[in-house]
Amino acid sequence: MTHETLDAAAAVLPAEAIDAIERAATSAHRHDDLFSERAANIKQSAVRDVFDISMRPGLVSLAGGSPYLQSLPLERLSETAARIIAEDGLTALQYGGGQGTEELRTQICEVMAAEGILDARPENVVITAGSQSAQDVATKVFCNPGDVVLVEEPTYVGALNTFEAYQVQVEAVPMDDDGLVPELLEARIAALQTAGKNIKFLYTIPNFNNPSGITLAQDRRQQIVDICRRANILVLEDNPYGLLRFDGEPLAPLRAGNPDDVIYMGSFSKIFAPGLRIGWALVPAHLQRRYYLASEAVTLCPPTLNQMLVSAYLRDYDWKGQIETYRGLYAERCHAMLAALEMHMPDGLSWTRPQGGFFVWVTLPEGVDTYPLLHKAIDAGVVFIPGAAFMHSDSPSNKLRLAFSAVPPEAIAEGVRRLAPVLREAIDA
Ligand code: PMP
Repeated sequence: MTHETLDAAAAVLPAEAIDAIERAATSAHRHDDLFSERAANIKQSAVRDVFDISMRPGLVSLAGGSPYLQSLPLERLSETAARIIAEDGLTALQYGGGQGTEELRTQICEVMAAEGILDARPENVVITAGSQSAQDVATKVFCNPGDVVLVEEPTYVGALNTFEAYQVQVEAVPMDDDGLVPELLEARIAALQTAGKNIKFLYTIPNFNNPSGITLAQDRRQQIVDICRRANILVLEDNPYGLLRFDGEPLAPLRAGNPDDVIYMGSFSKIFAPGLRIGWALVPAHLQRRYYLASEAVTLCPPTLNQMLVSAYLRDYDWKGQIETYRGLYAERCHAMLAALEMHMPDGLSWTRPQGGFFVWVTLPEGVDTYPLLHKAIDAGVVFIPGAAFMHSDSPSNKLRLAFSAVPPEAIAEGVRRLAPVLREAIDA
C-alpha cells in the first residue's frame, strides 16, 4: 500500500485499522530473503488458476482434465473402505513400507501387463503419491541445477513445474502429428552434448499426450529409446492415459522391450480415482536403491489405507470393466467434441483427433495469442486452457487445450458453440 493510499485511508479508518494494514503490508515481504532460489522458480499453474474459475455456475468447463467419477460404484466403494477400517484398521491407519505394499505392487504388475509390459516384478515397483510424485523423485535423484531435461513440446504443465523447481534447463523438442520427431531429438541431443551439457533424461507422454492428445507412432518408439540409449540418457515414460484408448490399435509402451533404459510411470488417477493419490514408478534394477530412498524421504510411505482400497478394488471389482466404461464415455465425449468443432469452428483452425485420453488441441492461425481470449471466452460462458501453459518458453501461443473427459456430450457441444465466435473474432481482428 502506498503512502498516498494510506493517507487517504487514515481519513476514514480508525487508527487500529491503519496499524493492522501497515503491519500486513510490512510482513508480506518480511521473510522474502529466506526463500530458496528454487522457490523463485515455482510457478502457479495456469491450469490451477482456471480450475477455480471453471467451478462458477453456468460456465461450461473444457479446462480441467478430470476423470468422470460419477461412473464409479461409489456406494460399494464406501462399504469397502469401511470394511477395511473395521477389519484391518490397525494396519490401514498405520505407517507402511516405503516402497508400498507388496500386494499392491504385485497387482500393479498385472495392470502393466494389460499395457504390454510383461516382465515387471513387484520388487521393481515403488508406489508414489500419484505419478506427479514419481516425476518429482526422478528429478530429485538425477538432476543438479543446470542439468538438461528434454521434453516434447507441448507437454504436461505439472512436469514442467517440477523440472523448473529443480532449476534444470528444460529443452523442448517439437512434435508433429505422430509425436516426438526422432531426427529433431537426435540433433538437439548432439548439439547440447557438443556444448558440454549434461542431459539427464527425456520426459515423454507417448500415449494421448497432455495437452495435445497426440500418440507417438509405433515406428518411432524404439527409435527414440535407441537415440537416448546411445547418448546415455534415460527415458522417463509417463503413461497415465495408456489404457484409455478408444480408437485404433494399442501400442506397447517404450518400457516394454527396454527394461534398463526407461523409468515408467503409471497412475490410478485416470483409470480409477485421482483423489486416492496412488501412482507408481517401474524403475530399472540398477537405479532402484536411490530412487526408492528418495521416494521414502518425500512421503515416508505411500498412504496405507488408500493402497488397501486400491488393492481391494483390483481384487474384488471388475476393474477392467470400469476401464471399458471410462473408455466408452470418453469415446462418446471426444467424438461429440470433434463433431462440434467441425460444425461451429471458423476456417483457419485445425485440431487433433485423439485416439484416447482426455484432450483435443486446437491450433489457430499464426500470430493469434490464445491467452487474452480466455477472458472473452469466460464472458461467453466457456473455459479452456491457453496453449502457453504447456510450453517451456513463456512466449505467446496460438494453441489451446480442450478437455472432454468431465463434461457430458451436450455440454461439450454447447461449450464449443460458445467458444466459436470468440475465436472467429480473434481471427478476423
Ligand atoms: N502426467 C500426466 C501426463 C498428467 O496428465 C497428469 C495429470 N493430469 C499427471 C501426470 C499427474 O497424475 P497423478 O494424479 O498420477 O499425479
